[in-house]
Amino acid sequence: MANLRFQVVEEAFKKKPTEVITPVERPSEFFGKYVFNRAKMYKYLPASVYEKLIDVIDNGSTLDRSIADAVAAGMKQWAEENGVTHYTHWFQPLTEGTAEKHDAFIEHDGKGGMIEEFSGKLLVQQEPDASSFPNGGIRNTFEARGYSAWDPTSPVFIIDDTLCIPTIFISYTGEALDYKAPLLRALHAVNVAATEVCRYFDPAVTKVTCNLGWEQEYFLVDEGLYSARPDLMLTGRTLMGHDSAKNQQMDDHYFGAIPDRVQAFMKDLEIQALELSIPCKTRHNEVAPNQFEIAPIYEETNLAVDHNMLLMSLMKRVARKHGFRVLLHEKPFAGINGSGKHNNWSLSTDTGVLLHAPGKNAEDNLRFVTFIVETLMGVYRHNGLLKASIMSATNAHRLGANEAPPAIISSFLGKQLTELLDHIEKNDKEDLFDMAGKQKMAMDIPEIPELLIDNTDRNRTSPFAFTGNRFEFRAVGSEANCASAMIALNTAVAEALASFKERVDALIAAGKEKRNAIIETIREDIKTCKPIRFDGNGYSDEWVEEAKRRGLDCETSCPIIFDNYLSEGSVKMFESMNVMNSKELEARNEVKWETYTKKIQIEARVMGDLSMNHIIPVATHYQSQLAKNVQNMRQIFPVEKAEQLTARNLKIIEEIAERTQAIETGVEELVNARKVANKIESEREKAIAYHDTVAPKMEEIRYQIDKLELIVADELWTLPKYREMLFIR
Ligand code: ADP
Ligand code: MG
Repeated sequence: MANLRFQVVEEAFKKKPTEVITPVERPSEFFGKYVFNRAKMYKYLPASVYEKLIDVIDNGSTLDRSIADAVAAGMKQWAEENGVTHYTHWFQPLTEGTAEKHDAFIEHDGKGGMIEEFSGKLLVQQEPDASSFPNGGIRNTFEARGYSAWDPTSPVFIIDDTLCIPTIFISYTGEALDYKAPLLRALHAVNVAATEVCRYFDPAVTKVTCNLGWEQEYFLVDEGLYSARPDLMLTGRTLMGHDSAKNQQMDDHYFGAIPDRVQAFMKDLEIQALELSIPCKTRHNEVAPNQFEIAPIYEETNLAVDHNMLLMSLMKRVARKHGFRVLLHEKPFAGINGSGKHNNWSLSTDTGVLLHAPGKNAEDNLRFVTFIVETLMGVYRHNGLLKASIMSATNAHRLGANEAPPAIISSFLGKQLTELLDHIEKNDKEDLFDMAGKQKMAMDIPEIPELLIDNTDRNRTSPFAFTGNRFEFRAVGSEANCASAMIALNTAVAEALASFKERVDALIAAGKEKRNAIIETIREDIKTCKPIRFDGNGYSDEWVEEAKRRGLDCETSCPIIFDNYLSEGSVKMFESMNVMNSKELEARNEVKWETYTKKIQIEARVMGDLSMNHIIPVATHYQSQLAKNVQNMRQIFPVEKAEQLTARNLKIIEEIAERTQAIETGVEELVNARKVANKIESEREKAIAYHDTVAPKMEEIRYQIDKLELIVADELWTLPKYREMLFIR
């Protein structure tokens, strides 16, 4: 029997690093080479057009269609100088990933020939034939068409021969069919709400920007090994495979040197990312073998999201060039760490103040505390929704499944900040505020040592941790579009800030001094949102009990967690902040449930196929070999002796028979569970059925398969083993 596994293992061992040609220019020189950034806008656009466009980008003024033609012409000239022949509207449909439809620049010239053309109209709006993108029924019911519209705040860029134009994707009736449209609305909401609150402290503030710095974790697997694992190819994760005897116990990968082939891949990836203006800064090995991380410097959130989407697709392409496949799935291998995407999040003003960083004096610190507490308020009020925003069929393997982070959203603040909030909470002597305005301890908010910024006081189990000058939302999945988490978080914080402002204004109107009004409101909120604060071990069973007592959302079933989007509080929040209406929310949930079902459905099919045409045949083959051996022994030795000598083989023959039978029955049950679930009309109920009845069956089958892997002769096993996929590089 030819065994692909041994062939690919042998080839993988021989592979050498692919050579990467380092550009002669310095990174600062090739940074943004393929991006139509400000410098290029300045060079390729008439001065008046440049100014108008910058006004649109910086100040959100409305896009004047009359400049579109001039902008398009400038873009086209630059693009053609770089060998570009096609353009595409690049958008982020509700499936993960991005979508694009490439059109050539050519148009009929009306004289029987062709001319290169790219007008403002084509830049600004397109109608992708998008009926096959998930829309939760919006387009079907209301209006057949959707269109993509240029987002001038994210610059166009070149991939190969194509000019890519970042766009939003909406239906003709105005509902968002993508991630970017609601993200832009959420960023607007938080900008408006935060700016108003900032003005209590500094009337010069006119804009608040949301910062996002993501850290992307991923696995690399040799391409040959990958191709011999149909489950990896079709579902992104291994559906079976026994633990490698050695995996991450020694923590040696994390600190280890980056392997040569991987190093070459990273170098190549970073060069190409920098050319696309993605400011990559950090790379290192992660905890699990063959797991790595890449992180850029933080950027404005809309841009950071686009850059993450772009990087994920770039990673896939570059990996192939280096004979690897990149795995972005949250849990490609059981038994070792999965991959996440930490979202470092903060707000900052156009006056240069980082709102989540402590200041130098009591006044600054009052502002700092305000933003910390109102962030916690948003997270507290919408903890269930935030969990829903990062939940998916794939991330469910991390959340709540014996791994970081737990499926309960809480926030870690660290010792210093906790003490500060406790101090403010307890101190409710009125005369404290009367001191406001005086020198020293004016508001009885102690100075916060700068040391906090470099705080090493970290808690790895917290899904939403304060890390000195930002919050780190760690529960986001490696494969996810960051926008989902950013939409929920920013809208929740916008709502909290708006409510804060309303209450402070009411107190001021009632005659309270401004600072006292602020402190009083903060104190009230510190008490209200206390249940969200948790600095202990998020993995412990006690925490689950405690969290329930505190009224936090402890649900672990993915399809049910999605209900959070449709709760009264969520709908009210999204509608009042003008981010999404109930129709959009309902439609998007339909898509979430449907996607969940499809993912489990595909996994179940692959599981069935592999069981029947890989596992059972191989195990049975080995069983026959053993049986033959037993027969031979009986011919050679006297009965009693033969019995003794074949005891072990007989035991294995029996075990194989039992396990293959269990697998076969399991597959039958799996198929039946699917049949029952498929008949269910409601997407929500169907997804729940897949979660409750289909997914657990796969675990049962896997258990048997992994046991077989341990006893069947290694030379017969066809699927590359964990040790091979995790240690060959
Ligand atoms: P870690 O110690 O968690 O690995 P890093 O220093 O590597 O953290 O930073 C992780 C990410 O956080 C980077 O993208 C970094 O630019 C970003 N970051 C740093 N400060 C902020 C901030 N104030 N707001 C948002 N992101 C930030
Ligand atoms: Mg981090």
